[in-house]
Amino acid sequence: MNIVIFGPPGAGKGTQAEHLVKKFKLFKISTGDLLRNEVHKKTSLSKKIKSIIEKGSFVSDDLIYNLVENVVSKEIYFNKLIFDGYPRNLKQVNSLDTLLKKYKQKISCVLSLKVDLDSIIKRILGRQICSKCGLIFNEFFYPSNENNHKCDPKFLEKRSDDNEETIKNRFETYKKETFPVLEHYKNQNLLTEIDGMNKIDDIYEEISQIIGSL
Ligand code: AMP
Repeated sequence: MNIVIFGPPGAGKGTQAEHLVKKFKLFKISTGDLLRNEVHKKTSLSKKIKSIIEKGSFVSDDLIYNLVENVVSKEIYFNKLIFDGYPRNLKQVNSLDTLLKKYKQKISCVLSLKVDLDSIIKRILGRQICSKCGLIFNEFFYPSNENNHKCDPKFLEKRSDDNEETIKNRFETYKKETFPVLEHYKNQNLLTEIDGMNKIDDIYEEISQIIGSL
């Protein structure tokens, strides 16, 4: 099964996807992570990507298409993907349809986490990502500790686009570009909306039940 998980920045998509990957033996494909990997390569393209991400705008659909095809085309991922942060506009919805047809796959369900802007700002300002293992924590709501994290705390980092101004831009971009995508999947009867204001564990339970029943 392939799953798409939506939500504004800071809604907890990445955190939920990490848990679901383990439970259902899936693979996460986050276009944000793929882009950040490109930025680390320090090429002329990576400088452009970095500046777009730091403004909170969208990177070009063609670049995203190539990054996604690199993953979707690999047989080990067939029908085992959780898409996090993609497709983010209607053009990307069409591209994903094309790719899934080409590789004879389909989307089984689309989940949307709903969270308000004030909570998003609080969550994102506390977000920390481990540069070694990739796990996501929050210094206020879900701090890293010996029970939930094996790496040294020195590996915890903040994202450069996690500041208040960029967060607001990212939220506006999400409303403008990504809301129509949700409507699209709603019309296809694939969409389930989840209250993203609940506790991480409760959301995880709810989503696990939905996926388990597919
Ligand atoms: P994320 O990690 O999903 O919050 O993405 C971080 C940033 O990467 C976004 O604010 C965009 O600038 C860029 N980005 C991620 N995914 C996409 C996408 N599917 N299309 C365009 N830009 C994207």
